[in-house]
Amino acid sequence: MFELKTLTDYSDESVLAEIRRIASDFKGKKLTRKEFDRISRVHSSTLGRRFGSWTNALDKAGISEEIAPRPKQQITREMLFECIRTYIEEFGGPPKLDDIAERLDVHRTTLAGKFGKWPALLNEVGLQPVPLGRRYTDQECYENILALWTHFGRQPSFRELKRAPSRVGSKAYVLRWGGWRAALAAFISYINRSSSISQNETRATAELLNPSESSSSFTHANEPRSFSLALRYKVLCRDHFRCRICGRSPAKDIGVELHIDHIIPWSKGGQNIEENLRTLCSDCNLGKGAKHEAV
Ligand SMILES: [Zn+2]
Repeated sequence: MFELKTLTDYSDESVLAEIRRIASDFKGKKLTRKEFDRISRVHSSTLGRRFGSWTNALDKAGISEEIAPRPKQQITREMLFECIRTYIEEFGGPPKLDDIAERLDVHRTTLAGKFGKWPALLNEVGLQPVPLGRRYTDQECYENILALWTHFGRQPSFRELKRAPSRVGSKAYVLRWGGWRAALAAFISYINRSSSISQNETRATAELLNPSESSSSFTHANEPRSFSLALRYKVLCRDHFRCRICGRSPAKDIGVELHIDHIIPWSKGGQNIEENLRTLCSDCNLGKGAKHEAV
């Protein structure tokens, strides 16, 4: 039997009914747009104009994804680059192809096939090294991490490198360590390395000088009065980045500054060891007067 390839009327109801009629013939196989246009009495572009898009028309007619899979959103170069930039904002390092494929909900081979080689793409987004105004030393990078850690009372995020009180920008970390997570890992491993060294040194000094016999005439020999970064980090962490007397912290109270304080003063032979150190805010530290001293 032959049928005219036209509808008797083109009201919304009739064209939707036409979609349903076609779809009901497609149980078990996939109805593509091309297939639809081959047999339907209304063209898919008409439906697109009428309902906004082909996908909308299918939705409106109540056709399931199972019968008519919706075409995936076309990924443009701009969308891809935007996705890569967002990833870098969040993680501080270049993404892997799989990370981006997952975010865009496409297969990795689709991306590679459409946009070319991954390293070349990263280059295009501007991931090649950018020259710095000045090179920071590892120590400066670590000091900045500790300052931020103290300021926020927790591990700082990559975004926080970009604004005050950070003094070293995010690029310095990315260039040196390849990303923020790697930089944090280097920081922690530096802390662990140097704290085990300084503890051994302190122990050796303590044994050598035997302060229990002559604490009043205790001398610090050549030991530096200031604390290593590792020691400061350990004391601050232990005290949860809060003043041990009043409990205030830079994270919660504006303008609070934390210091490391000797419990037994340095001048009275107090040592640079964790047990003799505590975190104080500048107010409590000064309020103590000459009884103890601060660094
Ligand atoms: Zn205090």
